[in-house]
Amino acid sequence: MRIDSQLYVAYLLRAYELIRANETYVTDLDLATGDGDHWANLNKGFAKLNDLSEELKTLPLNALFQKIGMTMMATIGGSSGVLYGGAYIAAGKKLAGKEFMTAEDLRDVLQEMLNDIQTRGKAQRGFKTMIDALAPAVDAFTAGLEANSDEKELLGSVKRAAEAGAEATKKMEAVRGRATYQADKGVGHLDPGAVTMAYQISALCDTVAETL
Ligand code: ADP
Ligand code: MG
Repeated sequence: MRIDSQLYVAYLLRAYELIRANETYVTDLDLATGDGDHWANLNKGFAKLNDLSEELKTLPLNALFQKIGMTMMATIGGSSGVLYGGAYIAAGKKLAGKEFMTAEDLRDVLQEMLNDIQTRGKAQRGFKTMIDALAPAVDAFTAGLEANSDEKELLGSVKRAAEAGAEATKKMEAVRGRATYQADKGVGHLDPGAVTMAYQISALCDTVAETL
């Protein structure tokens, strides 16, 4: 596995496509549990990254992550803008001097993002948030590395863990985010932030797997 800035930007474009294609679905999830703006917020951020893609491709990885973080913070807004922005900026610091990421580097980046999101948002797994898609993906990544799995299989297991994690939010009671204001605490609805986190992880795994 060799993920350079060019490949990472290819992933961003693929994630943007997946997000764009699911406007109604994600908006309806956030209307059921929150204020309905999650899709529009995230889409705005990815649209801006799409506009910047030619410039982004030329940056070293650490500067790329820093720029993605600043852009997300400025354009997405809401809770997710701050959480994704902070996560990218924190992860970028791990990438100084690296021309590309190996599988271990990518796992470390996802782990760092998870740590940053958990600290910033004071949330843990089981709180019905984006963490419930990211945390199982990081676990699957670590398990795959420890088992010395084939990289394509490893990426497949990471993607499936994120998707299953997002599905599992349906029965959770919200402890963080706007769904805590609903009488039902969002029970019976998927968390929109977990669903869009799973889209991003899935697009990342697919983009990288195609190069193997
Ligand atoms: P807002 O709730 O400010 O309108 P968005 O609609 O952009 O923000 O994003 C909502 C998503 O953000 C939720 O579905 C949830 O996954 C995530 N989220 C909200 N608060 C937190 C938190 N404290 N920690 C982790 N994720 C959170
Ligand atoms: Mg919202």
